[in-house]
Amino acid sequence: MHEVSIVSDMLNIVYENVQLHNMKSINKIVIKVGEFTCINESSLRFAYECLCKNTICENVKLEIKKIKASAYCNNCRKIFNISYTNRVCPICNKFSKNVVTGDELTVDSIEGEQK
Ligand SMILES: [Zn+2]
Repeated sequence: MHEVSIVSDMLNIVYENVQLHNMKSINKIVIKVGEFTCINESSLRFAYECLCKNTICENVKLEIKKIKASAYCNNCRKIFNISYTNRVCPICNKFSKNVVTGDELTVDSIEGEQK
């Protein structure tokens, strides 16, 4: 399952930060997921629960920020929303290759207490 390796990478980042900032507990983890990543949210949450067992992340709330996909039009100098199959600027009808958001898969923030 694709989601397991994603969560495992994500947790490695969390653990690195826990050590770096000398945290004793975590209250919340916020991640950003772009709509083009094709992540299944329930699989992601399930993988998270499994991988967090017996770690500092056990029972920690996972907040998923969904990021809408957008692209930049060189012609109009505007950012517009796109879908996977339609990246055409609504103003000038030109196809845009400059995807700005939608591919995100990052740890946005980690809330917790320091020692
Ligand atoms: Zn345009």
